[in-house]
Amino acid sequence: MTTAPVILDRAAIDAMIGVIEGRGHRVVGPVVRSGAVVLGDLSSTADLPVGISDEQTPGRYRLTARDDEALFGYVVGPSSAKPFLHATGVPVWQGERTADGSFATRKPEAPTPVAFIGIRPCDLAAIGIQDKVFLNGYRDGVYGDRREGVFSVVVNCVEPGGTCFCTSMGTGPRASKGYDIAVTEVIDDEEHWFLAEPGSDAGQEVLAQLGAAPASDDERVRVENLLVDAADRMGRGLDTEGLPEAIKASMESPRWDEIAKRCMACANCTLVCPTCFCATVEDETDLAGLEAQRVRRWDSCFNEEFSYIHGGSLRPSTYARYRQWLTHKLSTWVDQFGEMGCVGCGRCITWCPVGIDITVEAAALAAAAKEATHV
Ligand code: SF4
Ligand code: SF4
Repeated sequence: MTTAPVILDRAAIDAMIGVIEGRGHRVVGPVVRSGAVVLGDLSSTADLPVGISDEQTPGRYRLTARDDEALFGYVVGPSSAKPFLHATGVPVWQGERTADGSFATRKPEAPTPVAFIGIRPCDLAAIGIQDKVFLNGYRDGVYGDRREGVFSVVVNCVEPGGTCFCTSMGTGPRASKGYDIAVTEVIDDEEHWFLAEPGSDAGQEVLAQLGAAPASDDERVRVENLLVDAADRMGRGLDTEGLPEAIKASMESPRWDEIAKRCMACANCTLVCPTCFCATVEDETDLAGLEAQRVRRWDSCFNEEFSYIHGGSLRPSTYARYRQWLTHKLSTWVDQFGEMGCVGCGRCITWCPVGIDITVEAAALAAAAKEATHV
């Protein structure tokens, strides 16, 4: 595989979408829906949020107009790859009563493989984390069927969002692996182009069909500088050094109680999080008793019923449920999967209705743990 980057313009991005669609993919990318950038079906660059940016602060998200025609001038909205791969509301199996009175089950049809256009490096890293959850050791059918054949065109971030902290988590603003094509957009008053780098044989095949010119040294340096600058301008950070241990040492911290007074246990943070994977199943039958199915839906550790076992819930208080969520994300996930369950996308901060900030809470817990142990 050659990995030489090439230069694309908007027409070439449109051609790329066409080539990818022609390879049998359902093409999905950023679109504006209900005042937010979400991932939806895409047929050309005209469907993208052209000339749109976003403002994100704890508990606040607004779209704004840019003064240019940037195709990717915003960061992550509330949706990620998760709804497409760890899908919710999907049948795990379906069955029907047969003519002889017995019952036959059938596996739901395999979905069309998705191509993500404009997925961000943090969300690509989140797919890598969910791969470990759903495909490592055993293969989860719902996820595995959707994950096979995925094609990813990642867009590196040249303008960090207001709640992003991917630099601290090592997941951005530039993608380092897991993509088929990596694109960086360059736009100013005089020029508008995209540097595209193949990351797989499939990505190389797609780029080869576009007949694009190789990037010059100057163009490569310009992109490099933009990405270094984006990392430097990241407004938030999380010091992960010793954090899993510090959180484990904070189980009785009064900070949990203080957070619980603000937290509404609404579960927004788990719904928007690209790595959260809790789910439940529900069995459904039709009234005639002829059809039945088992459906898997997202659930959340913020729901009291999620930890219900015979006799009651293991985590009846918001205190216990927030503690479970943050401890799992930043500490016990490492024990389970060898890395943290957070990619620094900032969604849980933006979409928390009361603006609880995981970077602030984790830092406070770590500081208190250090003080208590006089480290
Ligand atoms: S915990 Fe928050 S910042 Fe981390 S991946 Fe989930 S939503 Fe993003
Ligand atoms: S931390 Fe925020 S988003 Fe998460 S459950 Fe509590 S109030 Fe909802």
